[in-house]
Amino acid sequence: MPELPEVEVLRYHLDSLLTNKKLVSVDVLKLRVVRPECPKLLQDKVVGCTIKGVGRKGKFLWLELERAQSRTTFPLIIHLGMTGRLFIQKSNKSLPKHAAVVFKLNREYLVFKDPRSFGRVTFDADCLGSLGVDALSRDLTEEMLASVIQTTNQSVKARLMNQKHIAGLGNIYSCEVLHKSKISPFIKGSSLCLAKVKALRKAISMTLHNQVSFGLSLDLDFEGEFKNDGLFYYGSKSGRDNQLKEPFRVYGREGESCRNCGSIITRSYQANRSTYYCPECQLCDET
Ligand SMILES: [Zn+2]
Repeated sequence: MPELPEVEVLRYHLDSLLTNKKLVSVDVLKLRVVRPECPKLLQDKVVGCTIKGVGRKGKFLWLELERAQSRTTFPLIIHLGMTGRLFIQKSNKSLPKHAAVVFKLNREYLVFKDPRSFGRVTFDADCLGSLGVDALSRDLTEEMLASVIQTTNQSVKARLMNQKHIAGLGNIYSCEVLHKSKISPFIKGSSLCLAKVKALRKAISMTLHNQVSFGLSLDLDFEGEFKNDGLFYYGSKSGRDNQLKEPFRVYGREGESCRNCGSIITRSYQANRSTYYCPECQLCDET
C-alpha cells in the first residue's frame, strides 16, 4: 500500500506531466471508486477544466482544476487505497484491466487503475479537512507530536497510524520510524518521555525525506503503466529484471538480523496488522 513517500514521488512526477493540460472527457469504469459522486456529475464538473497542478496531503493527492469560464479552481481528490495506480498512457493504446477512471487529455489518458477498488476519486474536501498535520510538513513540531502522542493510552504505533492526528504514516513507515528512534511499537503514548518524542520526530522527518529522495533518484516509469509490481511501489523503466530494493530497517525483514545490534527482527500482530521490530533496540520498558 502506498504511503506518504510513494504518493509524494508520484505527485512530483504527475505535477510536471499534467500541469496546464486540459481534461477532454472522463470515463468511469468502476462506479465504486467515485461513489457517492455520480459519473455524470463528475463529467459535467471536470470536462473543459485545465489542470493547474497536483497537490498532496498525507496519502491523498488532488488535481487542482481550473474552470474555463470563471478561472476559479477546485480540487479533484484521489486516494490510491490499497492497490490504486495513477499513470499516463497514449490514447491509441488499449486500456489496462482494472482501469477504474480514465481521464482523456489530448492524445493521452490519465488512468486510475484499481484492482481491489478501495481507492477513491471525489470532490469531497472534507476528507482533506479531517486529516491531521502532514508528516513531512514543518508543522509537525516536537510540541505538536508530544501533544498527539503523550495524550493517549493507545500504543504509539496505533497513534502514529491514525490519519486524524498525523497524515501519511501507514504500517510500513510507522514500523520504520519506531525502529529508528528505538521506541517499542507497543508502548503506551502516555508513557513516552519527551526525549523519545524528540527522537521520534527526528526519525519521522529523516525517514520520510530519505525515502522521497530515494524514490526521486530512480529511473521511474510514470508515463506508462508500471512494469515492476513487487513490494516496492514504484515501477522502473527496466521492469522486473532490475527489481528495485527498498532499504527497509525492519519492515518485511522477519527473521533477518537488526543492522544496529544483530538481534533477530520479530513480527507480531497489532490491530490485525503486522508489526516488525527489534526486541533488543526497541525494548518495551513500560512498567
Ligand atoms: Zn536491534
